[in-house]
Amino acid sequence: MIRTVPVGLGARAYDVLIGAGLLDAAGARIAPFVKRGRVAVVSDETVFALHGARLTASLESAGLAAPAVIVPPGEATKSFEGLADLCDRLLALELDRGDLIVAFGGGVVGDLAGFAAAIYKRGIDFVQIPTTLLAQVDSSVGGKTAIDTPRGKNLIGAFHQPRLVLADLDVLGTLSAREMRAGYAEVIKYGLLGDLSFFQWLEAHGAAVLAREPQALAHAVARSVEMKAEIVAEDEKEAGRRALLNLGHTFGHALEAETGYGEALLHGEAVAAGSALAFRFSAAQGLCPGQDAERAVAAIAGAGLPTRLSEISSQPFDAARLVRHMAQDKKAEGGRLTFILARALGEAFTARDVDAVAVREFLLAEGASP
Ligand code: NAD
Repeated sequence: MIRTVPVGLGARAYDVLIGAGLLDAAGARIAPFVKRGRVAVVSDETVFALHGARLTASLESAGLAAPAVIVPPGEATKSFEGLADLCDRLLALELDRGDLIVAFGGGVVGDLAGFAAAIYKRGIDFVQIPTTLLAQVDSSVGGKTAIDTPRGKNLIGAFHQPRLVLADLDVLGTLSAREMRAGYAEVIKYGLLGDLSFFQWLEAHGAAVLAREPQALAHAVARSVEMKAEIVAEDEKEAGRRALLNLGHTFGHALEAETGYGEALLHGEAVAAGSALAFRFSAAQGLCPGQDAERAVAAIAGAGLPTRLSEISSQPFDAARLVRHMAQDKKAEGGRLTFILARALGEAFTARDVDAVAVREFLLAEGASP
């Protein structure tokens, strides 16, 4: 069964299709969006080696020429150098405005290829075929594209909505258990930020989702995409409600900055720990019942994700350094700390003017060093 979730953005509206076997139908699904019979498939070495032949065959059988542009896997590819290299290779293919880019991979490929699509010849169309759980439930939907710089993650980018998103649940079969868990952190995030009944469903069925049980996986991806689509349609450029999707990200980015944005702590793992910290901080501030924070933490820990600083590094994090990263976070306005905090399970809100001293004291109580 293919589920369709529309993203209601007027002239830029598009569908997210979710289901098994979509890769084999990709050519027929994408062809109506292609003006000149050609697409460039941007993918990373790992994904293309595993699934590229199926995608290429599907595109070619729909009459599309589909040259591949393969980039190295990993966050380091989402850089100015990676962008310049990709754009140069697209130019060498003589890709034109009537052609289309297919971003085939995880969030790294989606963010990089999406940003290239936003600026290549002043913008060309692109389609997302996300291949990680994280990319299927989060990064492929909503049009945020970006690269990193040495000063921070996702600092250079553009809003550029895809024309179509194809989330094939079968491709998740080759994803490592660790990457599945990292993506699952974003799934729990949707329950925590805005849907108590989805959170309760995840408490009962989270293990089945992680085990890639087809029905459970399909529901988890579809409900996550529905929530993201609804929020993006209401607030495309993050003037308000879309910021709630950053639950766990202010704490999480600080932890990622301290651990070097790499294998030591994956983005989803940082979001998991950040969400646990956000709930515990909310409880410590008297904003949210302690019981709710405990349930949030239990669900995250139950998925094998980190919820404590000590689980991330045996060396204590420096509280002042963490707070400094939070103050530099692009979500901090005018030096005040902005956090997504919770009033209850399923009820997140944007808290501006959060007292940096209170955050520091909380981090010390969590085991950070002075
Ligand atoms: P990723 O793209 O690096 O993929 C993780 C690893 O899994 C890579 O090594 C990749 O080669 C491999 N892989 C991908 N699909 C596979 C498959 N089906 N089978 C086997 N291996 C596979 O990481 P990610 O977690 O997908 O994405 C993280 C990125 O997403 C970060 O850069 C983050 O900033 C970005 N992000 C963007 C948004 C947004 O709204 N644009 C939202 C969240 C995260």
